[in-house]
Amino acid sequence: MANYGTPHLTLVSGRGNKVRDAKGDEYLDFLGGIATNVLGHAHPRIVAAVTKQLSELTHVSNFYAHPQGLMLAEQLQILVGDNSARTFFCNSGAEANEAALKLSRLTGRTRVVAFENSFHGRTMGALSMTGQSSKRKPFEPLIPRIKFLPFGNVQALRRGITKKTAMVIVEPIQGEAGVIVPPKGFLKAIRERCDETGALLTVDEVQTGMGRTGSWFAFQGAGIKPDIITLAKGLGGGLPLGATIGMGRAATLFQAGSHGSTFGGSPTSTAAALAAIEVITREGILERVAALGKELISKGSLIPGVKEVRGAGLLIGIELESSDAKVIQKKLEERKILVNAPNQNTLRIAPALVTSADDVAFFLSVLDKVMREQQ
Ligand code: PLP
Repeated sequence: MANYGTPHLTLVSGRGNKVRDAKGDEYLDFLGGIATNVLGHAHPRIVAAVTKQLSELTHVSNFYAHPQGLMLAEQLQILVGDNSARTFFCNSGAEANEAALKLSRLTGRTRVVAFENSFHGRTMGALSMTGQSSKRKPFEPLIPRIKFLPFGNVQALRRGITKKTAMVIVEPIQGEAGVIVPPKGFLKAIRERCDETGALLTVDEVQTGMGRTGSWFAFQGAGIKPDIITLAKGLGGGLPLGATIGMGRAATLFQAGSHGSTFGGSPTSTAAALAAIEVITREGILERVAALGKELISKGSLIPGVKEVRGAGLLIGIELESSDAKVIQKKLEERKILVNAPNQNTLRIAPALVTSADDVAFFLSVLDKVMREQQ
């Protein structure tokens, strides 16, 4: 179907953050499958974990447990720092947010607050919480009683979130909107208003989670604890895996029969996730990612024609003074670097977390050349 337009590159192989197309040309992959390939392509630990798992146990239904799923749920408890955390595994970010929406209904309330320009996925429930009318309009009517507040506006929270609100859902950094970082204190203000009103707070870490911003989860930098965390993208180390993690009362809302997924949390995907977490931990990747983010922001901001570089870790938006982002994306591709342009003014990079300081320096030097040519 035509829903992705017609991709003009066919990628056939990759290693680390390099990919090769069908013609044999090699590219520096600075998009990482949009923030998904945390360890890059064909990482030996992921390959070994998946191969071993496939040779032992392929699929069990959710009538049965399997060790990889149990171990991953325990790992997530440790990473979020809460023993009450319980996880529902699925396959994607949209599904993780669907599960959060269903959880919110079990509070007995039906209203949801989301934010303008947010992106939570394309299935009907996740789309209903997505604050971009161009994506929503063709599919209306969507789920009712979902209100959108301006992202980053603390004043709007008081009137917008009430005792009738079941759940507030927010991205700690809006990825698809162009890597928009809210003002300091915004997530804390949402947390406080949710506490005052009894609304659940879901933090959508589908794009920001798994070390992408230099901490396991971006909410950790804001000094808050959500009730629900949704994950996907990087969680499976490049394999399809999503998770909805509930804490405190949100951990116990689903009962037997409330929800399900045939493939969710398969032995193979969870084995890959365990391997990814092990490598990120063992190799001190979070510290490096945080440092690379600072480097990209400080050096990238000096490039002519760049208005602002924002984000954290290896989720970076480069806003241009012009609306030539698609042109610059194309020029970078001609020089064998893959990025994307989520809107006309912004380039987004989200490379594998194993990206080196040399790769970052190379990217910045090529971007500098391309931008100078464009001036
Ligand atoms: N939530 C956020 C913040 C995302 O960035 C995305 C995808 O870009 C999604 C949800 C949807 O994830 P998926 O494409 O896996 O359904």
